Amino acid sequence: MDLHSGMPFWVVLNPLYNYYKPLKTNIETHTVIIGSGITGALVAHSLCSLGIDCVVIDKRTIATGSTAASTSQLQYEIDEPLCDLIEKVGKKDAEDAYKYCLQSITDIENVFKSIGKNPDFERVPTYLLASNQKGKKLLQKEFQARKEAGLPVTFLEKEPLKKDLGVDALAALYNETSAQVDCYKAATYLLDHHLQNNELQLYSHTLISDYNETKNGYELVAENGNIINCKNVVIAAGYEAGTFLPKKVMDLLSTFAIVSHPVDASFIWEKRALIWETKTPYLYVRTTADNRIIVGGEDEAYNNPEKRDKALTKKTNILEKKFQKMFPEIPFVTDMSWAGTFSATRDGLPYIGLYPGKPNMYFALGYGGNGITFSMIAAQVIANLISGKPDDRARLFGFNRTK
Ligand SMILES: Cc1cc2nc3c(=O)[nH]c(=O)nc-3n(C[C@H](O)[C@H](O)[C@H](O)COP(=O)(O)OP(=O)(O)OC[C@H]3O[C@@H](n4cnc5c(N)ncnc54)[C@H](O)[C@@H]3O)c2cc1C
Repeated sequence: MDLHSGMPFWVVLNPLYNYYKPLKTNIETHTVIIGSGITGALVAHSLCSLGIDCVVIDKRTIATGSTAASTSQLQYEIDEPLCDLIEKVGKKDAEDAYKYCLQSITDIENVFKSIGKNPDFERVPTYLLASNQKGKKLLQKEFQARKEAGLPVTFLEKEPLKKDLGVDALAALYNETSAQVDCYKAATYLLDHHLQNNELQLYSHTLISDYNETKNGYELVAENGNIINCKNVVIAAGYEAGTFLPKKVMDLLSTFAIVSHPVDASFIWEKRALIWETKTPYLYVRTTADNRIIVGGEDEAYNNPEKRDKALTKKTNILEKKFQKMFPEIPFVTDMSWAGTFSATRDGLPYIGLYPGKPNMYFALGYGGNGITFSMIAAQVIANLISGKPDDRARLFGFNRTK
């Protein structure tokens, strides 16, 4: 699958993690993680921290799947508003899902503190803007739901919002618990750390094309014929995990993003906040460490790379116009634009844990707009399950939650 096109900013900004090591022999290990993106990297971190032998394997250059295309905002608010999620999964589960996402932002921060590296993790607030009257009504309902759940949230009317952020919108929800990061840097920092310090084995350019269940776990078959024997497999294969799943659990979409030339710091709005809106698909905005502005959205319900590539110029123009409408005084000149695959589940929640009937095969599928916070949760849940500790989140995010 072609996961992205155009020029994703992070692989231009960062030196490529120059690592080429295809699997050339048969090997044996405790746990194999298929996928070297942010999910596989966080799972590897959790397992290595417990002293579990593991191998990360990827068919591409390390971390150049969706992770390289991500705009990497970290928010507790998921694509499905809490008030709607309550209708779908019940009050307790919905509130818990939001609280787990809130906690995972701090957990991500702590992971990088623990390895002494900072992948441009920056704490920033979030404004969720009402796109229209209907959006304002949704925000009122959402505010109540979040308040009842004990989540940090403030309701801002039009005037205070204009004063704070300088943006015209009917209302907004505000919280100070979000963050932004460089997800490509994050994944490569983690993998490199455990490669140097914890004997993690990392193989690139090796496609796992088949697998067989064995008495002790799995035999994974690489396209080049080499075999890996292991007790557990973690599928952190992102939007390509479908090949390991007996049933489809997500829809694949296309999404678009642009990044500006750096702007003078005086142009950047209050507290460098993340901004998004109630409309679907939503527009979102963030800044980067070098004072660029990233604008994304314009999702389309197709995942055809040719169609997506053709749409890139048009989508770039639309995103530029929408940003200029929001902040007419900021000089925005697009430097790079790209498109990526994205996915949505029916309830906006990820799929994490064992697939029924597939013993020792753990899925870490952080689908949806909060993929990265879900990756953190997946890493913790899977490490707990592999080391024999129960984890309540495995039910909430498990495959059995939907019929
Ligand atoms: C434009 C865009 C914006 C986004 N914005 C945000 C955001 O703001 N916040 C957020 O939280 N999330 C966001 N996301 C989602 C987030 O980027 C993803 O959830 C995340 O990057 C997925 O990481 P991953 O490691 O699961 O997948 P990937 O990075 O795709 O890694 C999976 C890896 O598995 C490998 N692989 C697959 N199959 C096999 C196989 N059979 N054998 C060997 N290797 C295999 C692939 O080569 C790939 O490298 C965004 C996504 C896009 C595209």
